[in-house]
Amino acid sequence: MAYGWQWADEDKTRYRIDKEEAMVRVSIFTMFVEEDMSLRAIAHKLTEDGIVPPAMSRGWKVKSAAWRPSTIHKILTATENIGTITICKTKKGITDSGTETRKPSDLVTAIPGGIPAIIPGELYELAQYKLKHNRIDKSHVHHKPEDFLLKSHVVCKTCGYRMGNVYRFYGGKAYGVYRCRKFYSKYDRCPDFPEIKADKVNAYVWEDCCRVFEAIEEIRDTIRARIEADVKGFLENSSGAQQVAQLRQELTQAEAERDKHAPGSYYYNLVSQDIQSKQAQLRKYEEESKHAEGSEQLLDIYQRSVLSFLDFLSTMKGRYHEATFKEKRNALNVLGVTVTVQSCDKGALEARHVETAKEWLSLTEAAELAGLTMDVLRYHIGKGELAIYKRDESHRNRYVNRDELNRFLATFSYAPRSVREDVQTRVEVQYSPIFSGVQSSLISD
Ligand SMILES: [Zn+2]
Repeated sequence: MAYGWQWADEDKTRYRIDKEEAMVRVSIFTMFVEEDMSLRAIAHKLTEDGIVPPAMSRGWKVKSAAWRPSTIHKILTATENIGTITICKTKKGITDSGTETRKPSDLVTAIPGGIPAIIPGELYELAQYKLKHNRIDKSHVHHKPEDFLLKSHVVCKTCGYRMGNVYRFYGGKAYGVYRCRKFYSKYDRCPDFPEIKADKVNAYVWEDCCRVFEAIEEIRDTIRARIEADVKGFLENSSGAQQVAQLRQELTQAEAERDKHAPGSYYYNLVSQDIQSKQAQLRKYEEESKHAEGSEQLLDIYQRSVLSFLDFLSTMKGRYHEATFKEKRNALNVLGVTVTVQSCDKGALEARHVETAKEWLSLTEAAELAGLTMDVLRYHIGKGELAIYKRDESHRNRYVNRDELNRFLATFSYAPRSVREDVQTRVEVQYSPIFSGVQSSLISD
């Protein structure tokens, strides 16, 4: 019996997944594909972790309890991973020197769905691709910063960890993804591990930022309202209330005045200097006030972030979509953008079992019961992960068996591309508190 499965019954008529061994199989794929470890490094890690290698766990007489890279290779390439069983791989033969040996058989039968799948189809394909192209890919792909516009702004919704930036290889091409990084610890890893295509998120988030920029007036109003409220609270607790109020008003006027001039012009710089000295003055007053710590903090945010942001807006006005990579990165920092990425497996995990008295289901019925769209169902049928049957007594030719459907749902953990790349439902954009009012005023429009 292959490592990862056991007989389900004494008569050996059905297979079942051996949970512990299956987890080792999955972790081998994870280490190879996700963590980019070599076969040798994986073998070493498993041996170090004290995991018994397949031959020994099957009770065969073997000398060493160490995993070998060749075993790892065998596990990575086996089609049983994705549910396809191959019968009659080898046959008896005689070597030239006359000893008995096993030779590849011509009569190989592959049966998709012949054994419960352990590895999601796409992960398996990625591993096969990597095995073929391993050496080339590793040394030739360098990170292009442009591929990861949102670097350090992307957070996993499940575990709250910042997501990393890596390349995936598919169909001979490399593309960037953000993915949860909390997989290093065996005991405290992210249960979901979301990852998402970077170019899609980059475009989506920048689009959202542009909408915020384009609502400049709303931004100003929101900032004003916010600052007024904060200043009011500050004044109530401050001894230098009059002076601060005066200064605050002057600052507002100075800003308005500065906006009338082109950035970099003589008057613009002059007013900027004035604003700076007023800010310094204001800071001094604030330091003198011992009672308004919260307001002080907010006023500081106002001084540092908002003014530089307004600068950015006046320089970028009307051409936000043309912003360079550097300008975009700046704006993201000023706005305090946090992008939260949700795992795409949530929906799939809820649909793990169907209950029905009917044994044979049409594709439509199966999709409905499992809570999947027809596209998703067809996608997995196409990949050989779910078997369909032709029934003699019917002229309709595609039926799903209820038990087969439940078997498939139990192993179903990888959402198809349409779900994975549905940026709109998976991604939330948040701005630092001072700008979040702008975002909500846009949504309510
Ligand atoms: Zn996570």
